[in-house]
Amino acid sequence: MATCDVCGNDFDNAFTVRTAAGEELTFDSIECAAHRIAPACTHCGCRILGHGALAGDKTTRPTAVPTAPANKAPATSRTGLERLSA
Ligand SMILES: [Zn+2]
Repeated sequence: MATCDVCGNDFDNAFTVRTAAGEELTFDSIECAAHRIAPACTHCGCRILGHGALAGDKTTRPTAVPTAPANKAPATSRTGLERLSA
């Protein structure tokens, strides 16, 4: 049993994530993991679970990037986050 770092649930199938900064975190669900470690869109605040877009130092959902055409999301790469000129 391990305790989720977000909700405190003591759960048999909890899992551990080590962040790029070396922090080790325990979660009972993907929902709690996303709440704690997924970047938040600077436009709407929702958690970004797929490919995000970086504009300067801000992370947004690809469709929220102001430089993108209104009806077309910017291209994303297989590496995830794209760096766009601000
Ligand atoms: Zn939890």
